Amino acid sequence: MMKVMKGALIRTYALWSTGQRRGSTCVCLRKSGELHPHVLMILLLVMVAGARPVASMSPAHGQVEAAQKAPTPPSVLLVTLDTTRADAIGTERTPVIAGISSEGTHFDLALSPSPLTLPAHASLLTGLPPSKHGLRSNGAGALSPDLPTLATVLSARGYATAAFVASRVLDRRFGLARGFETYDDVMVAEHLGEYGYPERDAAAVTEAAVAWLRKLPSQTPCLVWVHYYDAHAPYLPPGMDPGAPERERYAGELAFVDRQLGRLLAAWPGQRPRITAIVGDHGESLGEHGEQTHGIFLYRATLQVPLILEGPGIPRGTTIPIPVSTEQLSATLVGLLPGPVDDGAGLGEPLPGLGLTVGPAAKDQASGDQASGDQASGDQASAGARVILAETLMPATAYGWHPLRALTAHGWRLIDAPRVELYDLAADPDELHNQAFRRRELVASLRAELNAHADADAPGSEAGSEAGIVDPDMMAALESLGYIQGTSTGEHDDIDPKDGMRLLDRFDEAKRLLAAGRQAEAIRLLERLLARNPHNVPFLTRLGAALLDSGRTEEAIATYQQALKLNPDLHFLHLNLATALRRAGQAGKARASYERVLKLDPRNAEAWLGLAELATSPADERQILGQAIEAGCRSVRVLLGAARLEAEQGHVAEVEDLLQRALELLGPDPELKQRAESLRDLAAHQARAKSDEPGPPEPTGPPDPAMPPSRPRLH
Ligand SMILES: [Zn+2]
Repeated sequence: MMKVMKGALIRTYALWSTGQRRGSTCVCLRKSGELHPHVLMILLLVMVAGARPVASMSPAHGQVEAAQKAPTPPSVLLVTLDTTRADAIGTERTPVIAGISSEGTHFDLALSPSPLTLPAHASLLTGLPPSKHGLRSNGAGALSPDLPTLATVLSARGYATAAFVASRVLDRRFGLARGFETYDDVMVAEHLGEYGYPERDAAAVTEAAVAWLRKLPSQTPCLVWVHYYDAHAPYLPPGMDPGAPERERYAGELAFVDRQLGRLLAAWPGQRPRITAIVGDHGESLGEHGEQTHGIFLYRATLQVPLILEGPGIPRGTTIPIPVSTEQLSATLVGLLPGPVDDGAGLGEPLPGLGLTVGPAAKDQASGDQASGDQASGDQASAGARVILAETLMPATAYGWHPLRALTAHGWRLIDAPRVELYDLAADPDELHNQAFRRRELVASLRAELNAHADADAPGSEAGSEAGIVDPDMMAALESLGYIQGTSTGEHDDIDPKDGMRLLDRFDEAKRLLAAGRQAEAIRLLERLLARNPHNVPFLTRLGAALLDSGRTEEAIATYQQALKLNPDLHFLHLNLATALRRAGQAGKARASYERVLKLDPRNAEAWLGLAELATSPADERQILGQAIEAGCRSVRVLLGAARLEAEQGHVAEVEDLLQRALELLGPDPELKQRAESLRDLAAHQARAKSDEPGPPEPTGPPDPAMPPSRPRLH
């Protein structure tokens, strides 16, 4: 606790100092010799007020002076490390991040409110739990346009705002782009990651961010958010043997991210003061509790993440040892910057240890009121009574199991599952010894606490946060417009996820049978699994594929339709259904499935290519591929398909333009080079034929069998 208080003091002093970056302006009370009179006054207040000094240190006063003295307020670099466990950061493996940590404040027990990328990032940017902001699963919904975010608040303050995300899991369609002038979620369609979302590596993200920074006028403060996705499975860091042990490869991905972050920091303009915030969106289980990746369970492995702040006004070399939520980051960043006292109020409570208060508390202080002893927003209250909630709906929405909620408070973690779990976090940090049966009273009281908080956080509730969000009518209207989805926990089979994991072992067996070509056995096993767990989408998807492979097309169609009933917004299910429908000769229905995908994701290359394959004429196909390019679909196969059609027409210049764009997307690739040459030859040949014989009917040459446009040979 002393560290927390020391941090608050240093921060307040730093805001009154030059407002420049660390290094020459490193703020140290002892070294600085003479104390500013305001600091002296606060020191006295601390001594007199004892337990509530921090609440007396509103940033409001300090920020006003800082704004007067510092012509350019600090910029903010927000780095989100996808899939990064708290224990993955260290001086040897991630020296850049560890260096920032040692120069700033490190939150030792930072917990994510969700082990899923989209909900966790929405919480980071809005300061709200998933139940409040409404993005509770990956791949569905969109953030309400009424919610303030870190980007909307800083944009309103005149900051230049830019985001560079590394996976289309954070596609602009989910609403996180609001407030960002630049939202760079542009990825090559052929660079597919897990679940069919395009992604890019940390080098590409860094490149895009550096290019943007170079163009920014030096006097404009900026918010730059970079999202690094590399640590996501599969772990294949550049230059590492794919056969190396899994944990080494995972660490290798983070070492690569660390080097790329180093490049970004090196390119940061020296004259631009900066607050750096580094945070994980969620961790990774790496086999703990039987979970390989993340999303199903709510243990430390996936909830605890790195959280580091560094820059003007942030204590150096300080560790905050109390549990905090990553939801608190946005309010903290807004509070650390000079600006109006309450414009970040909708972002919730700031982190402790930095002397920040926002919302009503800050307003009271700004108007000269002393914070009352039971002030709920001050550091001390946050430190002592903070209850951290987490949830995951993925067990229900994906696997048809019971969803999970967790509460971390008073040194315990309660996991609300059909078979409830309770862990003593100090004695049993690995959460291996469930105390729920021995501590029934404690379970009951923690569960009551969890329910009380969850009720307060329910959608449309006024009590959960200062934001108030929207009234129920507005909520219903937004729901009907598709702005809010995933607020229900979905249908499920009342299976405890702990038991569900055993079903996944048998599912792996079915996958092995399929890989070995033993379709009939695999189908029988999958059917048995589905008898026990009929709402399991991965089981249904795999069964659909097995049936299709076995020529049982109608059954495959029915199976995919069953999966879609459970999860109508999953684009890959619509794509699978379209494939089955085409196999059954139902082109019209297949077309409708592709169109459904494009409604969800207008840049989806597979859907555009599918529609092009169903085109009734070359002119129709040309139009579809042209629409795809116009919609922002960045696909090598779409460009090559369009180039083929142009080549058949002898349009040499158009072919060259499309080939150049394809080469830009994919870089040097021998297969692409070869393909480009043959298309150039075809275009030249057709052009000659046209000029030799004026007026022939337009040639419509057959598709190139070596590389039909929709076969994903390029990846
Ligand atoms: Zn993630």
